[in-house]
Amino acid sequence: MRQLPETDRDAIRIAQEPQYTRWLEQITATGGCAHPVHLSGSTTTLDAETGEILHHYDTHDEPGERLSVRCRNRRATVCAPCSRLHAGDTFHLVRAGLIGGKNVPATVRHRPRLFITLTAPSFGAVHRAGELCRPRRDGGRCQHGRPISCGAAHDATDLLVGQPLCPDCYDYTAHVLWHANAGKLWDRFVIGVRRHLASSVDLVQSRFPEHARLSFARVAEYQRRAAVHVHAVVRLDGPAGPDDEPPAWGTADRLSDAVRATARRLLVRTPHSPAVGELALRWGVQVDARPLRADGAGLDDDAVAAYVAKYVTKGAGDTGAGTDHRVSTWDDIDMAPVSEHVRTLMRTCWRLGGLPEYAPLRLRTWAHTLGYRGHILTKSRAYSTTYAALRAERAHHVGHSDIPSTVTDAHWRYVGSGHTPGAALIAAGIAEDLAESRRIGADARQEGGGANYPSART
Ligand SMILES: [Zn+2]
Ligand SMILES: [Zn+2]
Ligand SMILES: [Zn+2]
Repeated sequence: MRQLPETDRDAIRIAQEPQYTRWLEQITATGGCAHPVHLSGSTTTLDAETGEILHHYDTHDEPGERLSVRCRNRRATVCAPCSRLHAGDTFHLVRAGLIGGKNVPATVRHRPRLFITLTAPSFGAVHRAGELCRPRRDGGRCQHGRPISCGAAHDATDLLVGQPLCPDCYDYTAHVLWHANAGKLWDRFVIGVRRHLASSVDLVQSRFPEHARLSFARVAEYQRRAAVHVHAVVRLDGPAGPDDEPPAWGTADRLSDAVRATARRLLVRTPHSPAVGELALRWGVQVDARPLRADGAGLDDDAVAAYVAKYVTKGAGDTGAGTDHRVSTWDDIDMAPVSEHVRTLMRTCWRLGGLPEYAPLRLRTWAHTLGYRGHILTKSRAYSTTYAALRAERAHHVGHSDIPSTVTDAHWRYVGSGHTPGAALIAAGIAEDLAESRRIGADARQEGGGANYPSART
């Protein structure tokens, strides 16, 4: 036993513990989470009328006198099992808003629903994958002496894709300030769509909520040029939300017109800066708005939900657009494992972050995400169910409804996190087994046709 690697010896030690079976149950209940959180505490359920104890649970009887719960990290690089679970929840959350389920009525499928993609504008020419990159018959050079054309056909894996043809021509300031205002651009966009709908039927804007309700779920994705673009499902209901029919004028065509017109017209101005001036920020000219049809023609609801869910497992670091952790010094940026293009964006965040007029944008805090500080997934309240509700439903199914959803409960205490080397090995095995059985299940369900993923050019 002495010759065995430390990890194996630790695993054997764990397996010989008297409460090993219960410990394995706990780890299985976390799905083999790579960084579980350990809690200690108790829950007592009393009958509201008689005060009789209906149920009591105490971690005192658990192995190590603690209970392990999932870390719930959404990113695959941090915890693969929790990230898979989060992606699954996102899929159900988006899907319920499209076709019903999870307390959302099935009638939502007959509402005007669009799958839209809004891009960032161009901040300068970058190398593109696909046919020919940037062919120009006359060639030519920019003021910095660099070619303004590229006749190559880059493969999607080419590291040059997304990098600017000339970093000196590229508008890094605009890119970063656009990111920092992307949330505002989205909020204004939603308001603008409502306004456009109202005015298209001669309705006073303030009365729109009495006639209809606009709901959405959106996800942010980093493109190869390290600019965020937005995919969103947008749905039009009656004033009461998912249970309510929209008015007769609320058609997919009208919604689509409103989306396109608003995205084209919208303008957000940055506050004046002595160093930068004032920038007018817009969405890119590429606006995609595709109706989802109840008869199943066109885009497939499940494919759209799966497409959105795919993005929530990725952090800025996974796509090469930034890092997973905050940077706290200029030197951190120098050391970051990113391309020169991304490094320049991070430096631009740092530099602009030092200007008092941009203080509210907190550009240094968000230098690792290139100034973008939104959540990866955002949804309006009436769109569908919530992550919390999906988690509660699952806890109920596995009989773990004792576990508090947060550690703020007075009777629960955080006592640590993570695995010993041997426990990590066992947990990884459990996660692998669960993933495998899920794959087999998915294959069985998918028989008869795969999903059609909508695509957007990077
Ligand atoms: Zn985890
Ligand atoms: Zn090129
Ligand atoms: Zn140049």
